Formats: sequence, C-alpha cells, structure tokens
Amino acid sequence: MALGPHTVGRKLLWSIALPGLIIALLGAGYFFREMRRAVQDAAHREALALAEFVASTFTLPQADRAHPHGAVAEVLAQDSRLLRSVAELRVLTPDGRIRWSRRRGEEGSVHPESARLTTPTPERARSGREGTEVVRPLGGAECTGCHTGEAAYRMGTLQVRLSEPLLSRQLSGVFHVTLVATLLFGGLLTLATAFALHFFLTRPLRRLTNLMRRAEEGEFLVRAETRGTDELSRLSAAFNQMLARLTSMKVEEIDTHRDLAITKDKLALKEKLEERITELSLLFDIAHSLNSTLELSELFERVTRLVVERLKIPNFSVMLVNADGLLEIKSAWPQHRGNEGLTFAMGEGACGRAAESLRAVYLPDVEDRGSGFARRNLVGGTDHGSLLAVPMVHMDTLLGVMNFQRPEVAGFSPEELELLTAVADQAATAVKNARLHAETVQLTMTDPLTGAPNRRHLFSRLELELARAERYGNPLSVLMVDVDHFKKLNDGAGHRTGDEALRKVCDVLRSRVRKVDTLARYGGEEFMVLLPQTDKAAAVEVGEKLRRAVLEATSLASATQPGGHITISIGVSSFPVDATDQDTLVDCADSALYGSKRGGRNKVTPYEPGMEIHPGRERGPHSSRPANEPARPLPPPGVAKA
Ligand code: GH3
Ligand code: MG
Ligand code: MG
Repeated sequence: MALGPHTVGRKLLWSIALPGLIIALLGAGYFFREMRRAVQDAAHREALALAEFVASTFTLPQADRAHPHGAVAEVLAQDSRLLRSVAELRVLTPDGRIRWSRRRGEEGSVHPESARLTTPTPERARSGREGTEVVRPLGGAECTGCHTGEAAYRMGTLQVRLSEPLLSRQLSGVFHVTLVATLLFGGLLTLATAFALHFFLTRPLRRLTNLMRRAEEGEFLVRAETRGTDELSRLSAAFNQMLARLTSMKVEEIDTHRDLAITKDKLALKEKLEERITELSLLFDIAHSLNSTLELSELFERVTRLVVERLKIPNFSVMLVNADGLLEIKSAWPQHRGNEGLTFAMGEGACGRAAESLRAVYLPDVEDRGSGFARRNLVGGTDHGSLLAVPMVHMDTLLGVMNFQRPEVAGFSPEELELLTAVADQAATAVKNARLHAETVQLTMTDPLTGAPNRRHLFSRLELELARAERYGNPLSVLMVDVDHFKKLNDGAGHRTGDEALRKVCDVLRSRVRKVDTLARYGGEEFMVLLPQTDKAAAVEVGEKLRRAVLEATSLASATQPGGHITISIGVSSFPVDATDQDTLVDCADSALYGSKRGGRNKVTPYEPGMEIHPGRERGPHSSRPANEPARPLPPPGVAKA
C-alpha cells in the first residue's frame, strides 16, 4: 500500500489526522494543566491546614514541662505514618536555628535558608519543584501563658513542606498512560484510515486516472469498473459513457475525414478538369483565332494579343526563320522598342538553342550565369525573370521560335510549359497555312514563265489604279507591249528559245520600270505596263525607253528576227484623256499598238481618237472586250506615228 505524494488519500489523511492529533494533544495538555492546578490547590489547602494544625498544637496544655510540645513532636515524628506526605517540618528560633525538625539530628544547627525563613511574612503556601511549602510565624497572645514578654509574640517560624501528593503522581501516571494510548490509537487510526483511503479511494482513482490517460492517448475502447453505487462507481460509469460518446465521435470524425479526403480528391480532380477545360478552351480559341486569318501580320497581332491578355505573359516575341537562315523578330510585345527585325543565329541564346534542338528551352532565372541567356534583348526590355523559348515546328521543319518572358523567377509552371508548347504548335500550323496561302495567292497572280503578275493581277491592279487616279485626279497611262515577229522566233529557234526570249524581254522591261509601276504579262507574247501618275507624253517617253532597252539588250539578239534582234512595239493610252473606263483604256492602247505594227514595228504609238482596231483583225487574248462586241472602225492609214 502506498499513498503517493500527491494523492487525494494522502491529502485526506493529512487533513483528518493532523488536526485530530493537534486537538488530541491540545486536549491532553489542557487536561494535564487543569489536573496540576487542582492538585496544587489541594496541596496548598492541605499544607495550610497542616501548618495551622501544627501551630495550634503548641497552645495545648503541656504535660511534660521539661519538654514542652513533646506530644506534638511525637505526632509529627518522621516515622509517623499519619502524615506521609509531609517531607519536612521544622520549627526555627527567631535567629534561624533549628529548634525542632522532623528529621533527626538537625536540631541546634542554623537553617541554610534562615534569612528567608525568619523574615516575618504572612502565612502562605508556595509550590515549587520539591513540593508545596508553608512558612508560618509562631507566637502570639496564645503563647503568653507559658512565655513572657515580647518573646511570646516572636517565638520563631514553622516550616512545613509537603512532597508531591500521591494523587498527583497517580494522575500523572494515568495521564502518561492515556497519552501513550492516545498516540497509539491515533497511529492505528491513521493507519486504518490510510488503508481505507487507499483501497476505497486512491486505488480506484488511480485506476480511473490510468484509464483516462490511455483514453487521452487514443485508446477509446478501454472501460472502467463500475461495481457498486458509490460516487467513484458513478464517476466510472460517467467516464465509460463519455468514452462511448467519444468513440462514436471518433468514428464520426474518421468518417468525416474520409469523406473530406474523398471530397478533396474530387475537388482537386474538378480543379484539374477545370484547368484542362480552360487550357483546351484557350487552345481552341487560339486555334480558331489563328486559323481564321491567313495574313501573317494579323496572325502575329492575334497571337500576341492572346498571349498577353489571356495567358498574362507581359513579354513576348515571335521569330521566323528568314531567307538567310537567321531567326528574325517579326513581332514583339511591348511594341515599338526596336526589337522587330533583330536577328539571332542558330544556337545563339535560348531562342537559338530552341531552334537548333527543336525543343523548348526554359530558363527559370535568366540572371543565373549558367542559363545561357543572350543578354541581347529579345522580348522587350527585361533581362531578369524567367524565359521560355519554344520552337515553332511544322512537319519537322523549323518555322521560327516563340519567346515568352515573365519578370518573376520560375514564372512558368510545368502545365504552362505544356500549354505554351501547344500554342507554339498551333501558331506553327497557322504560320504554315498563311505562308501556303500567300504562295498560292502569289501563284494565282503570277505568270509562271516570266514571274511577272498575270492578267488577273493586272486587271485588279488596273481597277485599283484607275479608282485612285479618278479619286485624286491624277493621270494614269497604259503601255501595251507586243514582241515583233515572235512567231518567226518560235518557228525558227523553237518554242523553248521563244520562252527564254519572253523571259529576257520581261526582265529588261522589269528593270526599267519604277516600283510603283506594274508590269504584267497580258497574254502570249504581250505585256502591259501601268504607269500611275503619268500623263500621255511621259508615258510615250517611258515606252521609248523600254523599246530602246529591248533593242539594245545584247541577250536579245536573234538570227531568226528581221534585223537580227528581237524588238517590241508599244501602244500608249492615258486616263482621262483617252478613256475613263478600264476596257476602253485597254482597247485604246491595243489600237495604238496596232498602229505601231502597221507603222513598221519597233515603234511606240500614242492613241489618238479614231485609231480603232482593224475590223479584220482577230481579237487577241488580251482584249477585255467581249468577243461578240462589234469591232470599231479602222483608223485611217498613217495615223500611227513612228
Ligand atoms: P506581230 O509582229 O504582228 O506581232 O507578229 P507575231 O508573229 O508576233 O504575231 P502572231 O500573233 O502571229 O504570233 C504570236 C505567236 O506567239 C503565236 C504563238 O505561238 C506565240 N506564242 C504565244 N505565247 C507563247 C509562249 O508562251 N511561248 C512561246 N514560245 N510562244 C508563244
Ligand atoms: Mg501578239
Ligand atoms: Mg507579236
């Protein structure tokens, strides 16, 4: 059995035993003190009575005159059995000598305390360690019968000392026994209380505490004993009930946690799905937006807007591989920072490495020395943060590189890298389509033999230039050019040589016209030149220049041709002096050309009113006039000027 240092049992034990012990000791002390006081009082009274009695015996008539007071002495003799409690009894003379004593042999000697005893004091009892003492003066009127004079009044002193009364000793004995018994009883009671507290309180409480600790550590299946109906049993029952509630709460908590985990998983999945949907919708938008234009410049504008606005990437550039095999910045955001047109070699910087490896290059921190970031600004003003260069590849062919840059370090997530790679793929497809389209358009507008714009392009251009000339009130001239005796060349040197000659004539003409002019193959061996903002006289001059250039081109010497050289004839018509509509303007040039032919060829003839096509002449492939339209009257001979 052990009552721990901080157990309720020990506390109870202390709170019961200690006050009990103190009260018992206080009671015993009080009892002892009262007993001592009662015994002392009794002893005082006894001593005073005895002293009075002894003093009164001196007044009794004495039988023996020789030994007065002898009877008294006899009574009070030491061996008298009557006054056993009298320890000392003396009669002292006024000068302090012992006149008579209960102890034999003292008579005649001076009492050691004679001064104290002979000093006259009123009768009184005094208790000390050696018992109770009464000192009483002897003598008085009653002594005058035997004694005379003053001496009768001062006979001496009676000293009586009583030893401790028997009662007192007995009581002390009883008290001591009682005290020991009390202490013993108290000890036994404490022991019994400690046992009782241990078995009925401390031990069950400790068990309950242990169970509570185990429950606290998570063992919810432990249960306390609930035998009996006392408070502890009820406490145990309540604890069990609480544990049962806790167990069910724990089960609920586990269920809730599981549900929560499932919900979290679902939410994460949903978020992922939403992210995917957002990415897909973005990709769809990009694909839709990019594929709905075939113009490269518009394409770049759209992709820039999508990247900046939808993907929130503040710095962006698109590069395309140019004719020299360099990466050239075609579009950059922010705009107007002078980045457009900058070129990077293959392998130079992140973009060059991406182009070389055909794989995306990601620099999470461009300030990192080992990142290989080309300090030359490539996206628009920032040389810190993160950079992603993604190649635009179509059918294993590199078209260019897209550069995405954010000012934050590691600003692109792995998902974003994937998305931007997909964006670059989409852009590559769109760039390819735009290029194909441009090539197709170019093909449909170009004559494959000479590379000059064809008849379709010519007429759309003529329409545009006419409208412009009309709007701004400018002149517009048209030159109709025809190779002279071309049939002869074909027949004499073969069609391949004819083709070659046509190419050369075209090259000579092209090299002599302005950039704003349009040289087109009209059909067969005929060309047309549109001269915006050129009046008739100037146009004739241009025609002359062209005619001479062909004549002087050494590469156009040919043995099959009259004069040993290829020549051209030209007809000139002008807006608005000759015609205001397209067909008439062409017809006028055609008529003027006919005039040149009639005039002997290798000539330039400006149109003049009345100069109409010969009615017998077949309408050439050049005429924009419907075939069933009636021919205009033949101009009078000699109209054509040399
Ligand atoms: P003229 O001086 O009156 O214009 O005589 P010409 O022989 O040039 O005129 P004609 O209309 O009789 O002949 C034109 C010839 O040009 C007929 C045709 O076979 C030839 N020709 C037309 N287109 C081509 C072409 O693309 N290549 C070659 N090699 N010959 C062509
Ligand atoms: Mg012809
Ligand atoms: Mg001809």
